[in-house]
Amino acid sequence: MLQTALHFSHTLLKEVVEPGASVVDATMGNGNDTAFLAQLVGSKGLVYAFDIQEAALINTEKKLTELGLTEQVTLFHKGHETIEETIPTETSLTAAVFNLGYLPKSDKQIITKPDTTKKALDAILTRLKPKGRIILVVYYGHTGGEAELALVQDYSQKLPQEEYSVLTYQFVNQRNNPPILFCIEKK
Ligand code: SAM
Repeated sequence: MLQTALHFSHTLLKEVVEPGASVVDATMGNGNDTAFLAQLVGSKGLVYAFDIQEAALINTEKKLTELGLTEQVTLFHKGHETIEETIPTETSLTAAVFNLGYLPKSDKQIITKPDTTKKALDAILTRLKPKGRIILVVYYGHTGGEAELALVQDYSQKLPQEEYSVLTYQFVNQRNNPPILFCIEKK
């Protein structure tokens, strides 16, 4: 069976993230991607995870504690637009993941936004290792979602093909705006 965009995002991360790697979860939410990345990097690796909602940090901390994965993770209660000043420039990132949209079962007004997403992408790209990947799973059915999808499409299509490969993964016959996955890989 074909993988959902969410499942495929983990497959793409698993292919490149090795023990000891430094990675980013740009939209922590309930910590599913944070925990997945923490498992991949192991105790010698580093996961930088960001969210603007306190509830996200509480839920993620709880999940990581239950799984015994707190050692390799740093949770930031701030937006991913602060990555430029938060993650040292000399840090080499193997991967970053974004789940764009709102946190399910919480305030639908708190959504990721094009300008802050762009700022985060710029900062991550300068730190991304060769063969490193940025995965964006874009939910766009909510108010404001189309604008963010347009930003991600425009941003990724403009990346020079000599330096980056970009793919999208999307079900084109499903109802209710299923998420679209983008993967940016540095050559
Ligand atoms: N990956 C998450 C998980 O495993 O549960 C789901 C992420 S949810 C679709 C999007 C998250 O982005 C929300 O938790 C929201 O608070 C967060 N968010 C919104 N704006 C943000 C920003 N500027 N920086 C970081 N996170 C942000």
